[in-house]
Amino acid sequence: METPVQVTKSTLPPLEEYMGYLSAIFESHNLTNQGPCVRQLESRLSAFLDSPALLAVSNGTLALQLALHALQMAGKKIITTPFTYVATVSALLWEKSEPIFADIDPETLCIDPEKIAEQLERNPDAGGILPVHVFGNAADVTGIAKLASTHNLPVLYDAAHAFGSRLNGKSLFAYGDASTGSFHSTKLFHTIEGGCIATPKKADLENLLLMRAFGHTNDYHSQLGINAKMSEMHAAMGLCLLPKVARLISARAEKTTLYDQALAGEPRLRSIRLANDLEWNHAYYPLIFESEQALLKAMKKLAAEKIYPRRYFYPSLTKLPYLKPQSCPIAESIAPRILCLPLWPDMETEVIEKTTEIILNSLN
Ligand SMILES: *Cc1c(COP(=O)(O)O)cnc(C)c1O
Repeated sequence: METPVQVTKSTLPPLEEYMGYLSAIFESHNLTNQGPCVRQLESRLSAFLDSPALLAVSNGTLALQLALHALQMAGKKIITTPFTYVATVSALLWEKSEPIFADIDPETLCIDPEKIAEQLERNPDAGGILPVHVFGNAADVTGIAKLASTHNLPVLYDAAHAFGSRLNGKSLFAYGDASTGSFHSTKLFHTIEGGCIATPKKADLENLLLMRAFGHTNDYHSQLGINAKMSEMHAAMGLCLLPKVARLISARAEKTTLYDQALAGEPRLRSIRLANDLEWNHAYYPLIFESEQALLKAMKKLAAEKIYPRRYFYPSLTKLPYLKPQSCPIAESIAPRILCLPLWPDMETEVIEKTTEIILNSLN
């Protein structure tokens, strides 16, 4: 393999297909501001994600920020997980919320409802819960919903990894008071840059629409807004890729099986435990080593062959230098020894063979 292998390779539609949309956009001169591609994408995503109200936005981080406002979680103590991409916590901090970390389940790597309950006991002034469906696995939506209803708190899911994952026959975006998606080009489904907010409540939509575009309708300024609009060019990429998602997921599932087979029977490596009744989107291939030393050794051998997996998620966000120290022993134990292996739908089998062979050899 001459070219470097990264953790993923962005999916692109045939160029002619994208050009078809571009031609129409060029003809209309309608480039942004809730244009026809954005509206069409929103309506298709709303159906695909089992979400009655859905808004496309410019990225997954702003999606979180707007949703925090819509659910009145901004400026409050929010219970969240330290095992996620930093954007989950950056969104809280930009909205002047205070992240209170609850530790994760060591098998599913999602936030543990028992740990949320402990934090709610210690922080009776908490204003909401922000769990993450890590790697497209489902957080314990039942346990979390129970706690939320007991404490009368909103639940916002960071569903950036969960596109196409389904639980009990429903999209993961259908759980909680709202979910946010990221359509960044490294994600399973993308619009180059982009994201969405999905909520079961159509009433929230008007507020979110205003927030997304500066808080005004013509000359009537009703509330504080920001610019979180998606452009027509970005939406067009989504319209090209959405019909392909089922095929992309099944191709990922095949690659995952090949990885599983190659690594089966190696007791020094483990995978994550998926939630019961989950139809997984196979968004990532996470692999947990026995020690950070073993992981670093494997990474070094892989790098020598120009294979670059990613340390999702390292470090545990309890270690962020700009936060007051908090302790989550499970997240802090797993974060240094978990690696996401290269995975994309049409990757060469050879990459999987080589990657697994190097990892297995590195263990000895
Ligand atoms: C990618 C990601 C985000 C941020 O999304 P952007 O579209 O890149 O802003 C947020 N949370 C998680 C868990 C992510 O993986």
